[in-house]
Amino acid sequence: MKKIGNYNRILVTSALTYANGHTHLGHIAGSILPADMYVRYLRLAGYDVIYICGSDEYGTAIEMSAIKEGITPETIIDKYHFANKKAYEDLGMSFDIYSRTSTEYHRKASQDFFLNLYNKGLLSQRTEKQLYSEKEGRFLADRFVIGTCPICGFEEATGDECENCGSSLSPLELKKPRSKITGDTPVVKESTHYYFPLASYQDKLKEWIESKTDWKPNVVNYCKGWFKTGLKDRAITRDLDWGIPVPVEGNDGKVIYVWFEAPIGYISNTIELFEGRGTPDKWKDYWQKEDTKLVHFLGKDNIIFHAIFFPAMLMAHGDYVLADNVPANEFMNLEGSKQSKSKGHAIYVKDVLTKFNPDSIRYAIASNMPENKDTDFYFEDLQAKNNNELGAILGNFVNRTFVFCEKYFEGKVPESGKFEEIDSNITGSLISYTQRIASYYENYKFKDALSETMNLVRDANKYFNDTEPWKAVKESKERCGTIINICLQLCHTFAILFNPVLPFTSEKILKMIGTGKENFSWDRASELCLKSGHVLNKPEILFTKIEDSEIEF
Ligand SMILES: [Zn+2]
Repeated sequence: MKKIGNYNRILVTSALTYANGHTHLGHIAGSILPADMYVRYLRLAGYDVIYICGSDEYGTAIEMSAIKEGITPETIIDKYHFANKKAYEDLGMSFDIYSRTSTEYHRKASQDFFLNLYNKGLLSQRTEKQLYSEKEGRFLADRFVIGTCPICGFEEATGDECENCGSSLSPLELKKPRSKITGDTPVVKESTHYYFPLASYQDKLKEWIESKTDWKPNVVNYCKGWFKTGLKDRAITRDLDWGIPVPVEGNDGKVIYVWFEAPIGYISNTIELFEGRGTPDKWKDYWQKEDTKLVHFLGKDNIIFHAIFFPAMLMAHGDYVLADNVPANEFMNLEGSKQSKSKGHAIYVKDVLTKFNPDSIRYAIASNMPENKDTDFYFEDLQAKNNNELGAILGNFVNRTFVFCEKYFEGKVPESGKFEEIDSNITGSLISYTQRIASYYENYKFKDALSETMNLVRDANKYFNDTEPWKAVKESKERCGTIINICLQLCHTFAILFNPVLPFTSEKILKMIGTGKENFSWDRASELCLKSGHVLNKPEILFTKIEDSEIEF
Protein backbone atom coordinates (compact mmCIF):
# COMPACT_ATOMS: atom_id res chain seq x y z
CA MET A 1 0.00 0.00 0.00
CA LYS A 2 0.96 3.60 -0.66
CA LYS A 3 2.39 5.71 2.18
CA ILE A 4 0.94 9.07 3.12
CA GLY A 5 3.76 10.98 4.80
CA ASN A 6 5.21 8.47 7.26
CA TYR A 7 1.94 6.63 7.61
CA ASN A 8 0.93 3.29 6.12
CA ARG A 9 -2.79 3.46 6.81
CA ILE A 10 -5.43 6.04 7.61
CA LEU A 11 -8.29 5.87 10.08
CA VAL A 12 -10.97 8.50 9.50
CA THR A 13 -13.88 9.25 11.81
CA SER A 14 -16.88 11.56 11.58
CA ALA A 15 -18.42 12.77 14.84
CA LEU A 16 -21.09 10.33 15.99
CA THR A 17 -24.65 11.52 15.40
CA TYR A 18 -26.76 11.80 18.54
CA ALA A 19 -29.75 9.48 18.10
CA ASN A 20 -32.53 11.68 19.42
CA GLY A 21 -33.34 13.47 16.18
CA HIS A 22 -32.96 13.46 12.43
CA THR A 23 -29.60 14.41 10.98
CA HIS A 24 -29.54 17.84 9.32
CA LEU A 25 -27.44 19.73 6.80
CA GLY A 26 -25.38 21.29 9.61
CA HIS A 27 -24.04 17.81 10.46
CA ILE A 28 -23.31 17.10 6.82
CA ALA A 29 -21.34 20.32 6.37
CA GLY A 30 -19.49 20.03 9.68
CA SER A 31 -18.31 16.48 10.06
CA ILE A 32 -19.75 14.09 7.48
CA LEU A 33 -19.25 15.39 3.94
CA PRO A 34 -15.63 16.61 4.33
CA ALA A 35 -14.71 13.19 5.75
CA ASP A 36 -16.51 11.35 2.97
CA MET A 37 -14.77 13.45 0.30
CA TYR A 38 -11.42 12.88 1.99
CA VAL A 39 -11.95 9.13 2.24
CA ARG A 40 -13.22 8.77 -1.33
CA TYR A 41 -10.18 10.64 -2.57
CA LEU A 42 -7.82 8.44 -0.49
CA ARG A 43 -9.42 5.23 -1.76
CA LEU A 44 -9.11 6.37 -5.39
CA ALA A 45 -5.50 7.32 -4.77
CA GLY A 46 -4.79 3.81 -3.52
CA TYR A 47 -4.31 4.39 0.21
CA ASP A 48 -5.31 1.94 2.93
CA VAL A 49 -8.14 3.81 4.63
CA ILE A 50 -11.15 2.97 6.78
CA TYR A 51 -13.99 5.32 7.59
CA ILE A 52 -15.88 4.98 10.89
CA CYS A 53 -19.09 6.64 12.07
CA GLY A 54 -22.24 5.75 13.97
CA SER A 55 -24.96 6.79 16.39
CA ASP A 56 -24.29 8.10 19.89
CA GLU A 57 -27.16 6.61 21.88
CA TYR A 58 -26.78 7.18 25.61
CA GLY A 59 -27.07 10.23 27.82
CA THR A 60 -29.64 12.37 29.54
CA ALA A 61 -31.25 13.88 26.44
CA ILE A 62 -32.42 10.49 25.17
CA GLU A 63 -33.57 9.37 28.62
CA MET A 64 -35.43 12.65 28.97
CA SER A 65 -37.16 12.31 25.58
CA ALA A 66 -38.19 8.75 26.46
CA ILE A 67 -39.75 9.78 29.77
CA LYS A 68 -41.52 12.75 28.19
CA GLU A 69 -42.96 10.70 25.35
CA GLY A 70 -43.75 7.73 27.58
CA ILE A 71 -41.68 5.31 25.49
CA THR A 72 -38.45 3.43 26.04
CA PRO A 73 -35.04 4.88 25.14
CA GLU A 74 -34.58 1.86 22.83
CA THR A 75 -37.60 2.96 20.78
CA ILE A 76 -36.05 6.38 20.31
CA ILE A 77 -32.57 5.22 19.38
CA ASP A 78 -33.89 2.56 17.00
CA LYS A 79 -36.01 5.13 15.23
CA TYR A 80 -33.24 7.67 14.73
CA HIS A 81 -30.34 5.28 14.26
CA PHE A 82 -31.97 3.57 11.29
CA ALA A 83 -33.41 6.80 9.88
CA ASN A 84 -30.04 8.55 10.02
CA LYS A 85 -28.16 5.55 8.67
CA LYS A 86 -30.50 5.54 5.68
CA ALA A 87 -30.28 9.31 5.18
CA TYR A 88 -26.48 9.08 5.05
CA GLU A 89 -26.61 6.17 2.61
CA ASP A 90 -29.05 8.04 0.38
CA LEU A 91 -26.71 11.00 0.39
CA GLY A 92 -23.86 8.75 -0.74
CA MET A 93 -21.78 8.57 2.45
CA SER A 94 -19.28 5.74 2.15
CA PHE A 95 -18.65 4.65 5.75
CA ASP A 96 -16.96 1.32 6.17
CA ILE A 97 -19.28 0.97 9.14
CA TYR A 98 -22.10 3.02 10.61
CA SER A 99 -22.85 1.29 13.87
CA ARG A 100 -24.08 2.42 17.28
CA THR A 101 -23.08 2.74 20.91
CA SER A 102 -25.86 0.48 22.23
CA THR A 103 -24.06 -2.62 20.91
CA GLU A 104 -22.43 -5.30 23.03
CA TYR A 105 -19.13 -4.44 21.31
CA HIS A 106 -19.37 -0.94 22.63
CA ARG A 107 -20.45 -1.90 26.15
CA LYS A 108 -17.44 -4.21 26.42
CA ALA A 109 -14.95 -1.76 24.87
CA SER A 110 -16.12 1.06 27.16
CA GLN A 111 -16.05 -1.06 30.31
CA ASP A 112 -12.61 -2.45 29.40
CA PHE A 113 -11.31 1.06 28.86
CA PHE A 114 -12.76 2.22 32.18
CA LEU A 115 -11.28 -0.78 33.99
CA ASN A 116 -7.88 -0.22 32.41
CA LEU A 117 -7.71 3.25 33.98
CA TYR A 118 -9.33 2.05 37.22
CA ASN A 119 -6.82 -0.79 37.62
CA LYS A 120 -3.95 1.62 37.10
CA GLY A 121 -5.29 3.64 40.01
CA LEU A 122 -5.88 6.69 37.82
CA LEU A 123 -9.51 7.24 38.78
CA SER A 124 -10.26 8.99 42.04
CA GLN A 125 -13.59 8.85 43.85
CA ARG A 126 -15.22 12.03 45.06
CA THR A 127 -18.40 12.62 46.95
CA GLU A 128 -20.56 15.49 45.78
CA LYS A 129 -23.91 17.01 46.55
CA GLN A 130 -26.62 16.41 43.98
CA LEU A 131 -30.32 17.01 43.62
CA TYR A 132 -32.43 13.96 44.37
CA SER A 133 -36.14 13.49 43.75
CA GLU A 134 -37.68 11.42 46.53
CA LYS A 135 -40.90 11.13 44.58
CA GLU A 136 -39.09 9.63 41.57
CA GLY A 137 -36.51 7.79 43.65
CA ARG A 138 -33.58 9.08 41.60
CA PHE A 139 -30.87 11.67 41.26
CA LEU A 140 -31.74 14.42 38.81
CA ALA A 141 -29.04 14.89 36.19
CA ASP A 142 -28.61 18.47 35.00
CA ARG A 143 -31.18 18.48 32.23
CA PHE A 144 -33.74 16.89 34.50
CA VAL A 145 -33.87 20.01 36.64
CA ILE A 146 -35.37 23.39 35.88
CA GLY A 147 -35.36 26.48 38.03
CA THR A 148 -34.62 30.17 38.18
CA CYS A 149 -31.32 31.41 36.73
CA PRO A 150 -29.21 32.96 39.51
CA ILE A 151 -27.73 35.42 37.03
CA CYS A 152 -30.68 36.83 35.06
CA GLY A 153 -33.72 35.51 36.89
CA PHE A 154 -35.08 33.52 33.91
CA GLU A 155 -37.50 30.99 35.41
CA GLU A 156 -37.05 28.14 32.95
CA ALA A 157 -33.27 27.66 33.13
CA THR A 158 -32.09 24.04 33.06
CA GLY A 159 -29.50 22.43 35.29
CA ASP A 160 -26.76 22.84 32.68
CA GLU A 161 -27.45 26.24 31.15
CA CYS A 162 -29.66 29.28 31.00
CA GLU A 163 -31.15 29.64 27.57
CA ASN A 164 -31.94 33.29 28.25
CA CYS A 165 -28.53 34.67 29.23
CA GLY A 166 -26.30 31.83 27.96
CA SER A 167 -24.63 31.18 31.33
CA SER A 168 -23.52 27.64 32.00
CA LEU A 169 -24.91 26.44 35.30
CA SER A 170 -24.89 23.49 37.63
CA PRO A 171 -28.14 22.16 39.12
CA LEU A 172 -27.25 23.30 42.64
CA GLU A 173 -26.94 26.92 41.49
CA LEU A 174 -30.57 27.08 40.35
CA LYS A 175 -33.01 28.90 42.59
CA LYS A 176 -36.34 27.15 43.24
CA PRO A 177 -35.20 23.92 41.53
CA ARG A 178 -37.86 21.42 40.43
CA SER A 179 -37.93 18.17 38.51
CA LYS A 180 -38.60 18.69 34.85
CA ILE A 181 -40.64 15.48 34.72
CA THR A 182 -42.83 15.65 37.83
CA GLY A 183 -42.39 19.21 39.09
CA ASP A 184 -41.30 17.70 42.42
CA THR A 185 -38.98 19.81 44.57
CA PRO A 186 -35.76 17.83 45.00
CA VAL A 187 -33.64 17.47 48.11
CA VAL A 188 -29.84 17.64 48.29
CA LYS A 189 -28.20 14.25 48.72
CA GLU A 190 -24.63 13.01 48.46
CA SER A 191 -23.42 10.73 45.70
CA THR A 192 -19.98 9.33 44.92
CA HIS A 193 -18.44 9.48 41.47
CA TYR A 194 -15.27 8.50 39.67
CA TYR A 195 -13.13 11.30 38.27
CA PHE A 196 -10.69 11.32 35.38
CA PRO A 197 -7.49 13.27 36.25
CA LEU A 198 -7.70 15.63 33.28
CA ALA A 199 -5.75 18.41 35.05
CA SER A 200 -2.66 16.24 35.24
CA TYR A 201 -2.66 15.80 31.44
CA GLN A 202 -2.58 19.51 30.68
CA ASP A 203 1.18 19.72 30.08
CA LYS A 204 1.27 16.62 27.92
CA LEU A 205 -1.72 17.78 25.88
CA LYS A 206 -0.26 21.22 25.46
CA GLU A 207 3.06 19.86 24.26
CA TRP A 208 1.28 17.52 21.85
CA ILE A 209 -0.90 20.25 20.33
CA GLU A 210 2.03 22.68 20.09
CA SER A 211 3.88 20.05 18.06
CA LYS A 212 1.13 20.17 15.42
CA THR A 213 2.13 22.66 12.77
CA ASP A 214 -0.59 21.78 10.27
CA TRP A 215 -3.70 22.06 12.46
CA LYS A 216 -6.33 24.67 11.71
CA PRO A 217 -5.81 27.86 13.74
CA ASN A 218 -9.40 27.70 15.03
CA VAL A 219 -8.72 24.31 16.64
CA VAL A 220 -5.37 25.28 18.15
CA ASN A 221 -6.69 28.59 19.50
CA TYR A 222 -9.70 26.91 21.03
CA CYS A 223 -7.46 24.47 22.89
CA LYS A 224 -5.13 27.25 24.02
CA GLY A 225 -8.15 28.96 25.56
CA TRP A 226 -8.85 25.84 27.63
CA PHE A 227 -5.23 25.55 28.73
CA LYS A 228 -5.25 29.17 29.78
CA THR A 229 -8.27 28.61 32.03
CA GLY A 230 -6.66 25.40 33.27
CA LEU A 231 -8.07 21.92 32.74
CA LYS A 232 -10.02 20.44 35.65
CA ASP A 233 -10.59 16.83 36.60
CA ARG A 234 -13.89 15.57 35.22
CA ALA A 235 -16.51 13.18 36.55
CA ILE A 236 -16.83 10.11 34.32
CA THR A 237 -19.82 8.49 36.02
CA ARG A 238 -23.41 9.64 36.55
CA ASP A 239 -26.53 8.62 38.36
CA LEU A 240 -28.69 7.67 35.41
CA ASP A 241 -30.64 4.65 34.18
CA TRP A 242 -29.77 4.94 30.51
CA GLY A 243 -26.13 4.17 29.93
CA ILE A 244 -23.32 1.66 30.27
CA PRO A 245 -23.08 0.36 33.85
CA VAL A 246 -19.91 1.22 35.78
CA PRO A 247 -17.97 -2.08 35.78
CA VAL A 248 -16.85 -1.87 39.40
CA GLU A 249 -18.86 -3.46 42.22
CA GLY A 250 -20.81 -1.25 44.57
CA ASN A 251 -21.89 1.20 41.88
CA ASP A 252 -25.49 0.20 41.28
CA GLY A 253 -27.49 2.82 39.43
CA LYS A 254 -24.38 4.48 38.05
CA VAL A 255 -23.40 4.60 34.41
CA ILE A 256 -20.33 5.80 32.53
CA TYR A 257 -20.67 9.44 31.55
CA VAL A 258 -21.43 9.79 27.85
CA TRP A 259 -18.53 12.19 27.20
CA PHE A 260 -16.17 9.40 28.27
CA GLU A 261 -17.90 6.51 26.58
CA ALA A 262 -19.11 8.00 23.25
CA PRO A 263 -15.68 8.53 21.60
CA ILE A 264 -14.79 4.93 22.46
CA GLY A 265 -17.54 4.27 19.88
CA TYR A 266 -14.93 4.89 17.18
CA ILE A 267 -12.91 2.02 18.61
CA SER A 268 -15.82 -0.35 19.24
CA ASN A 269 -17.22 0.27 15.74
CA THR A 270 -13.80 -0.56 14.30
CA ILE A 271 -13.75 -3.78 16.33
CA GLU A 272 -17.20 -4.65 14.99
CA LEU A 273 -16.12 -3.84 11.42
CA PHE A 274 -13.21 -6.28 11.45
CA GLU A 275 -15.15 -8.93 13.34
CA GLY A 276 -17.64 -8.75 10.46
CA ARG A 277 -14.84 -9.05 7.93
CA GLY A 278 -13.54 -12.20 9.61
CA THR A 279 -10.25 -10.61 10.73
CA PRO A 280 -11.08 -9.86 14.37
CA ASP A 281 -7.59 -8.67 15.38
CA LYS A 282 -7.09 -6.27 12.50
CA TRP A 283 -8.71 -3.32 14.32
CA LYS A 284 -5.55 -3.11 16.38
CA ASP A 285 -3.51 -2.18 13.29
CA TYR A 286 -5.64 0.94 12.91
CA TRP A 287 -5.76 1.96 16.56
CA GLN A 288 -2.53 0.73 18.04
CA LYS A 289 0.18 0.87 15.38
CA GLU A 290 2.15 4.07 15.27
CA ASP A 291 2.16 4.18 11.48
CA THR A 292 -1.60 4.87 11.43
CA LYS A 293 -2.80 8.37 10.60
CA LEU A 294 -5.89 9.05 12.71
CA VAL A 295 -8.08 11.95 11.52
CA HIS A 296 -11.25 13.11 13.31
CA PHE A 297 -13.76 15.21 11.37
CA LEU A 298 -16.20 17.27 13.45
CA GLY A 299 -17.95 20.57 13.93
CA LYS A 300 -16.41 23.21 16.19
CA ASP A 301 -18.75 22.35 19.08
CA ASN A 302 -16.94 19.01 19.35
CA ILE A 303 -13.33 20.24 19.43
CA ILE A 304 -13.08 19.85 23.21
CA PHE A 305 -13.94 16.15 23.01
CA HIS A 306 -11.58 15.28 20.14
CA ALA A 307 -8.61 17.54 20.82
CA ILE A 308 -8.56 17.43 24.63
CA PHE A 309 -10.77 14.87 26.43
CA PHE A 310 -10.40 11.85 24.14
CA PRO A 311 -6.64 12.29 23.53
CA ALA A 312 -6.15 12.56 27.32
CA MET A 313 -8.07 9.28 27.75
CA LEU A 314 -5.93 7.64 25.06
CA MET A 315 -2.76 8.95 26.71
CA ALA A 316 -3.92 7.56 30.06
CA HIS A 317 -4.64 4.15 28.52
CA GLY A 318 -1.37 4.13 26.61
CA ASP A 319 -2.05 1.51 23.93
CA TYR A 320 -3.54 3.84 21.34
CA VAL A 321 -2.41 6.23 18.62
CA LEU A 322 -3.36 9.88 18.96
CA ALA A 323 -4.99 11.97 16.25
CA ASP A 324 -2.72 13.25 13.51
CA ASN A 325 -5.26 15.96 12.80
CA VAL A 326 -8.63 17.26 13.98
CA PRO A 327 -9.77 19.42 11.04
CA ALA A 328 -12.87 20.88 12.69
CA ASN A 329 -15.28 22.92 10.62
CA GLU A 330 -17.22 25.96 11.71
CA PHE A 331 -21.02 25.96 11.44
CA MET A 332 -23.23 26.06 8.39
CA ASN A 333 -26.20 28.17 9.39
CA LEU A 334 -29.61 28.00 7.82
CA GLU A 335 -30.49 31.19 6.00
CA GLY A 336 -28.86 33.29 8.71
CA SER A 337 -29.39 31.39 11.98
CA LYS A 338 -27.85 28.32 13.61
CA GLN A 339 -29.20 24.89 12.65
CA SER A 340 -30.25 23.01 15.72
CA LYS A 341 -32.44 19.97 15.99
CA SER A 342 -33.32 20.75 19.60
CA LYS A 343 -34.75 24.09 18.47
CA GLY A 344 -36.40 22.58 15.40
CA HIS A 345 -34.56 24.99 13.14
CA ALA A 346 -32.80 22.80 10.64
CA ILE A 347 -33.09 21.21 7.22
CA TYR A 348 -33.27 17.49 7.68
CA VAL A 349 -31.36 15.35 5.20
CA LYS A 350 -34.34 13.02 4.72
CA ASP A 351 -36.54 15.97 3.67
CA VAL A 352 -34.12 17.65 1.32
CA LEU A 353 -33.48 14.30 -0.38
CA THR A 354 -37.14 14.01 -1.37
CA LYS A 355 -36.75 17.14 -3.51
CA PHE A 356 -33.22 17.24 -4.85
CA ASN A 357 -30.54 15.08 -6.44
CA PRO A 358 -28.13 13.94 -3.68
CA ASP A 359 -25.13 15.10 -5.70
CA SER A 360 -26.63 18.58 -6.08
CA ILE A 361 -27.02 18.74 -2.30
CA ARG A 362 -23.45 17.51 -1.76
CA TYR A 363 -22.08 19.99 -4.27
CA ALA A 364 -23.99 22.95 -2.82
CA ILE A 365 -22.71 22.13 0.68
CA ALA A 366 -19.16 21.33 -0.38
CA SER A 367 -18.73 24.52 -2.37
CA ASN A 368 -19.93 26.53 0.63
CA MET A 369 -18.26 24.42 3.31
CA PRO A 370 -17.60 26.28 6.60
CA GLU A 371 -13.88 25.45 6.57
CA ASN A 372 -12.64 28.65 8.19
CA LYS A 373 -15.74 30.62 9.10
CA ASP A 374 -19.48 30.10 9.50
CA THR A 375 -21.41 30.01 6.25
CA ASP A 376 -25.09 30.11 5.37
CA PHE A 377 -27.14 27.61 3.45
CA TYR A 378 -29.74 29.05 1.08
CA PHE A 379 -31.98 27.04 -1.24
CA GLU A 380 -31.42 29.73 -3.89
CA ASP A 381 -27.75 28.86 -3.71
CA LEU A 382 -28.42 25.13 -4.18
CA GLN A 383 -30.58 26.01 -7.18
CA ALA A 384 -27.92 28.30 -8.65
CA LYS A 385 -25.12 25.77 -8.14
CA ASN A 386 -27.21 23.01 -9.68
CA ASN A 387 -28.35 25.02 -12.69
CA ASN A 388 -25.35 27.25 -13.41
CA GLU A 389 -22.46 24.96 -12.50
CA LEU A 390 -23.45 21.29 -12.40
CA GLY A 391 -25.94 21.55 -15.25
CA ALA A 392 -24.46 24.33 -17.37
CA ILE A 393 -20.79 23.37 -17.03
CA LEU A 394 -20.34 19.69 -16.17
CA GLY A 395 -23.66 18.29 -17.44
CA ASN A 396 -23.40 20.34 -20.59
CA PHE A 397 -19.89 19.19 -21.45
CA VAL A 398 -20.62 15.50 -20.94
CA ASN A 399 -23.92 15.74 -22.74
CA ARG A 400 -22.70 17.55 -25.81
CA THR A 401 -19.70 15.26 -26.13
CA PHE A 402 -21.87 12.15 -26.03
CA VAL A 403 -24.55 13.55 -28.30
CA PHE A 404 -21.94 14.61 -30.83
CA CYS A 405 -20.26 11.24 -30.72
CA GLU A 406 -23.54 9.45 -31.22
CA LYS A 407 -24.51 11.63 -34.13
CA TYR A 408 -21.24 11.57 -36.07
CA PHE A 409 -19.31 8.55 -34.81
CA GLU A 410 -22.06 5.95 -34.21
CA GLY A 411 -21.49 6.18 -30.46
CA LYS A 412 -17.97 4.75 -30.72
CA VAL A 413 -14.79 6.38 -29.44
CA PRO A 414 -13.27 7.83 -32.64
CA GLU A 415 -9.63 7.38 -33.67
CA SER A 416 -7.30 10.07 -32.49
CA GLY A 417 -4.99 11.68 -35.10
CA LYS A 418 -2.04 13.95 -34.67
CA PHE A 419 -2.33 16.41 -31.75
CA GLU A 420 -2.37 20.13 -32.38
CA GLU A 421 -1.08 22.53 -29.73
CA ILE A 422 -4.57 23.10 -28.31
CA ASP A 423 -4.96 19.32 -27.84
CA SER A 424 -1.61 18.92 -26.10
CA ASN A 425 -2.38 21.87 -23.86
CA ILE A 426 -5.52 20.40 -22.39
CA THR A 427 -4.34 16.79 -22.16
CA GLY A 428 -1.00 17.98 -20.82
CA SER A 429 -2.70 20.01 -18.09
CA LEU A 430 -4.24 16.90 -16.56
CA ILE A 431 -1.16 15.88 -14.58
CA SER A 432 -0.81 19.21 -12.84
CA TYR A 433 -4.58 19.44 -12.25
CA THR A 434 -4.77 16.01 -10.63
CA GLN A 435 -1.69 16.72 -8.50
CA ARG A 436 -3.05 20.06 -7.36
CA ILE A 437 -6.47 18.65 -6.54
CA ALA A 438 -4.87 15.74 -4.67
CA SER A 439 -2.82 18.15 -2.60
CA TYR A 440 -5.95 20.12 -1.69
CA TYR A 441 -7.66 16.94 -0.49
CA GLU A 442 -4.65 15.86 1.52
CA ASN A 443 -4.55 19.26 3.22
CA TYR A 444 -8.30 19.34 4.03
CA LYS A 445 -8.97 22.16 1.54
CA PHE A 446 -12.16 20.73 0.13
CA LYS A 447 -13.54 23.93 -1.35
CA ASP A 448 -10.31 24.47 -3.26
CA ALA A 449 -10.31 20.85 -4.45
CA LEU A 450 -13.81 21.28 -5.75
CA SER A 451 -13.32 24.62 -7.46
CA GLU A 452 -10.14 23.38 -9.12
CA THR A 453 -11.99 20.31 -10.40
CA MET A 454 -14.69 22.55 -11.82
CA ASN A 455 -12.03 24.78 -13.42
CA LEU A 456 -10.85 21.79 -15.41
CA VAL A 457 -14.38 21.33 -16.75
CA ARG A 458 -14.45 25.00 -17.67
CA ASP A 459 -11.23 24.43 -19.61
CA ALA A 460 -12.86 21.45 -21.29
CA ASN A 461 -15.85 23.51 -22.38
CA LYS A 462 -13.52 26.16 -23.72
CA TYR A 463 -11.65 23.46 -25.61
CA PHE A 464 -14.91 22.24 -27.15
CA ASN A 465 -15.87 25.78 -28.16
CA ASP A 466 -12.45 26.73 -29.51
CA THR A 467 -11.95 23.57 -31.56
CA GLU A 468 -15.46 23.86 -33.01
CA PRO A 469 -16.08 20.18 -33.74
CA TRP A 470 -19.36 21.09 -35.50
CA LYS A 471 -17.26 22.89 -38.12
CA ALA A 472 -14.44 20.36 -38.10
CA VAL A 473 -16.83 17.51 -38.89
CA LYS A 474 -17.57 19.15 -42.25
CA GLU A 475 -13.94 19.94 -43.04
CA SER A 476 -12.03 16.93 -41.71
CA LYS A 477 -13.65 13.91 -40.07
CA GLU A 478 -10.22 12.86 -38.80
CA ARG A 479 -9.61 16.18 -37.05
CA CYS A 480 -13.11 16.06 -35.59
CA GLY A 481 -12.44 12.51 -34.39
CA THR A 482 -9.37 13.66 -32.50
CA ILE A 483 -11.36 16.40 -30.76
CA ILE A 484 -14.19 14.09 -29.73
CA ASN A 485 -11.72 11.42 -28.64
CA ILE A 486 -10.12 13.95 -26.30
CA CYS A 487 -13.50 15.13 -25.00
CA LEU A 488 -14.48 11.54 -24.19
CA GLN A 489 -11.17 10.97 -22.42
CA LEU A 490 -11.95 14.07 -20.35
CA CYS A 491 -15.36 12.63 -19.42
CA HIS A 492 -13.55 9.59 -18.04
CA THR A 493 -11.22 11.89 -16.11
CA PHE A 494 -14.23 13.73 -14.67
CA ALA A 495 -15.82 10.47 -13.54
CA ILE A 496 -12.72 9.94 -11.38
CA LEU A 497 -12.04 13.47 -10.20
CA PHE A 498 -15.65 14.19 -9.25
CA ASN A 499 -16.14 10.93 -7.40
CA PRO A 500 -15.29 12.43 -3.98
CA VAL A 501 -18.03 15.05 -4.23
CA LEU A 502 -20.46 13.66 -6.83
CA PRO A 503 -20.40 9.87 -6.37
CA PHE A 504 -23.71 9.19 -8.11
CA THR A 505 -22.82 11.35 -11.11
CA SER A 506 -19.41 9.72 -11.26
CA GLU A 507 -21.10 6.29 -11.50
CA LYS A 508 -23.49 7.57 -14.16
CA ILE A 509 -20.70 8.97 -16.35
CA LEU A 510 -18.76 5.75 -15.95
CA LYS A 511 -21.83 3.74 -16.94
CA MET A 512 -22.32 5.92 -20.01
CA ILE A 513 -18.70 5.33 -20.98
CA GLY A 514 -19.15 1.63 -20.30
CA THR A 515 -15.59 0.66 -19.40
CA GLY A 516 -16.27 -0.38 -15.83
CA LYS A 517 -13.71 0.37 -13.16
CA GLU A 518 -10.60 -0.98 -14.87
CA ASN A 519 -8.95 2.45 -14.95
CA PHE A 520 -10.91 3.99 -12.13
CA SER A 521 -8.11 5.37 -9.96
CA TRP A 522 -6.63 8.77 -9.24
CA ASP A 523 -3.39 7.94 -11.04
CA ARG A 524 -5.26 7.15 -14.23
CA ALA A 525 -7.26 10.39 -14.19
CA SER A 526 -4.47 12.21 -16.03
CA GLU A 527 -4.17 9.49 -18.68
CA LEU A 528 -6.08 8.94 -21.90
CA CYS A 529 -7.57 5.58 -21.01
CA LEU A 530 -10.27 5.03 -23.64
CA LYS A 531 -9.44 2.94 -26.68
CA SER A 532 -10.72 3.99 -30.08
CA GLY A 533 -13.57 1.85 -31.33
CA HIS A 534 -14.94 1.30 -27.81
CA VAL A 535 -18.75 1.38 -27.91
CA LEU A 536 -20.37 3.87 -25.55
CA ASN A 537 -23.70 3.47 -23.82
CA LYS A 538 -26.60 5.85 -24.36
CA PRO A 539 -26.14 9.26 -22.74
CA GLU A 540 -28.28 10.28 -19.79
CA ILE A 541 -29.08 13.76 -18.53
CA LEU A 542 -26.90 14.26 -15.44
CA PHE A 543 -28.65 17.23 -13.82
CA THR A 544 -32.16 18.52 -14.31
CA LYS A 545 -32.86 22.19 -13.89
CA ILE A 546 -34.29 23.24 -10.52
CA GLU A 547 -37.20 25.66 -11.06
CA ASP A 548 -38.03 28.57 -8.74
CA SER A 549 -41.21 26.80 -7.61
CA GLU A 550 -39.17 23.85 -6.32
CA ILE A 551 -37.28 25.89 -3.77
CA GLU A 552 -40.35 27.42 -2.17
CA PHE A 553 -41.26 25.88 1.18
ZN1 LIG B 1 -29.84 33.44 32.92
